Amino acid sequence: MATGNPLTDSVRTVAELLRTRAADQPDRLGYTFLVDGEHEELPLTYGEADRRARVVAQALREAGARPGMRALLVLPPGLDYVTTLFGCLYAGVVAVPVYPPDPFQLARSLPRLLAIVEDAEPTVALTTAPLLGFLDEVGRLAPALGALRWVAVDAVDEATSDEPVTVAPEATALLQYTSGSTADPRGVLLSHANLLHNSAHIQRLFHTTSDSHGMVWLPPYHDMGLIGGLLQPLYGGFPVTLMSPLHFLEQPMRWLRAIARHGATASGGPNFAYDLCARRCGPDEAAQLDLSSWQVAFNGAEPIRPETLERFAATFAPAGFRAEAFLPCYGLAEATLIVSGHGGTGAGPAALPVVPVDRAALEGHVVSPPTDGAAVTRLTSCGPSHPDQRLAIVDPATSTACEPGRVGEIWVSGRSVAAGYWRRPDESARVFDARLAGDAATAYLRTGDLGFLHDGQLVVTGRLKDLVIVRGQNHYPQDIELSVERADPSLRPGCGAAFVVAEDEDRLVVTCEVRRGAVVVVADVATRIRQAVALEHGLDVHTVVLVEAGGMPKTSSGKVQRRLCRARYLAGGLPEIGRAEPPAAPSN
Ligand code: ATP
Ligand code: MG
Repeated sequence: MATGNPLTDSVRTVAELLRTRAADQPDRLGYTFLVDGEHEELPLTYGEADRRARVVAQALREAGARPGMRALLVLPPGLDYVTTLFGCLYAGVVAVPVYPPDPFQLARSLPRLLAIVEDAEPTVALTTAPLLGFLDEVGRLAPALGALRWVAVDAVDEATSDEPVTVAPEATALLQYTSGSTADPRGVLLSHANLLHNSAHIQRLFHTTSDSHGMVWLPPYHDMGLIGGLLQPLYGGFPVTLMSPLHFLEQPMRWLRAIARHGATASGGPNFAYDLCARRCGPDEAAQLDLSSWQVAFNGAEPIRPETLERFAATFAPAGFRAEAFLPCYGLAEATLIVSGHGGTGAGPAALPVVPVDRAALEGHVVSPPTDGAAVTRLTSCGPSHPDQRLAIVDPATSTACEPGRVGEIWVSGRSVAAGYWRRPDESARVFDARLAGDAATAYLRTGDLGFLHDGQLVVTGRLKDLVIVRGQNHYPQDIELSVERADPSLRPGCGAAFVVAEDEDRLVVTCEVRRGAVVVVADVATRIRQAVALEHGLDVHTVVLVEAGGMPKTSSGKVQRRLCRARYLAGGLPEIGRAEPPAAPSN
């Protein structure tokens, strides 16, 4: 996709992108890592990034990795991450980013890592010297890890380095494992062409230029942090300040302080990040910040709650934050990163793009404006598709395009759509090669998400597989979860799940984490939850399960895994504080 920029338009691979930037502007600061999440800075210029990527490429070759083979990236966030990623691309080796195992939650993080190792069959695993000792110990517990060839990229001989190999634009650059709402991770095959195409798309939406400045705390192991956080700045030729997601989670306000300190223009994250800051920041602290440089506040990867946008905008208006900066967007790993988003000059829409609809109609897959007295669902629209991509709203049962005003599955076709899942031909054909009735010529990606078009803007309503269906009636779990978490102040927002288990009838089960240190009377909290769900959704909750803080299964990017939660509930594997079932029917 031509963007009018001679440099990026001539580049055919992501490796070439860094080489060209390094040749053009070797001394230009590309990345700055905030070591302590605050003031301690480590800089990396394009020239230095290129030099170190060549060293990593040489180390890869010495370790036996040839073009097309896989290298596991098991590194903490930081500059080594950037240069190791490019080292792989320089060597033509497929980078497989993973979350490093968490020493405090080994039982939770290890199975996913092992599943990825088994699936990707990496020739080599790249890490840093400080992590090597720990990984050695983990390797004793998990022989499949111990058997890998480990290389510490910060300890390799710097005297020798390799010339980048030439690869085709269609060659796989990355295996992006989906964040794992299902227990079984699938590797999305992302080519250089996919990455460059989506980078151009992001650039157009975000209006990034060489004068932009990024601030990113998102994990580099995941699509948003890697493609949005590491590649987009290089693509646009602008500097980015990086922070570890752990520093952000420890103190979310570090994110906004870093934006203010570095005069960042583009920054963002999932809805929960905005929510955390809006909840935690008092008026005094907000008034001390200067967020007036922030032009693009992207929000994606999970449902975007209008209340969060409103609350965030109100909290940070005294800091100079402009609500026009909000850029709600939608995307998924299977389409590289971004599918649609608002783009304007500001760059977001002038008014918050909130679309209120009649809830009952929506649950029947019909979009209709709210009527007096009826329950309303407020959704956030995620902007139009782009000219270079086709977007369709489809009835998934018949593969026919839906009439306007109907909700259907979101299908996408275009050059950002990946080639498929690594070594899963059947699933790849089903997901990546869907055909619309009456248009056999175009292959579409089935996103598994439901949505509709509203004045040409995409509105995502939820995941098809997560729909709560009770007596033939659809309900969106996120709406029920919102009612649940608001029912009692001891419950943790964003940490609940609603799902159905079928016995002799459909039974609605809701689970939610209880705040650390909160003392609860399970029966009382359950009563409040039942009342709220009955009132707001007309549904009887069968079982309420209160879960310890941190006990809900979540993806590596922090999203609740409803299907896994349901499986654990059925297997008795949730760390329960208590549960409330309906009183047994009186027997006579
Ligand atoms: P897995 O594929 O393993 O189940 P995942 O779908 O969460 O995990 P990602 O590709 O990281 O993996 O996330 C993409 C998904 O996130 C989308 O399919 C959609 O369900 C959700 N999502 C992304 N943006 C939005 C948005 N703006 N509103 C609602 N949901 C969104
Ligand atoms: Mg997915």
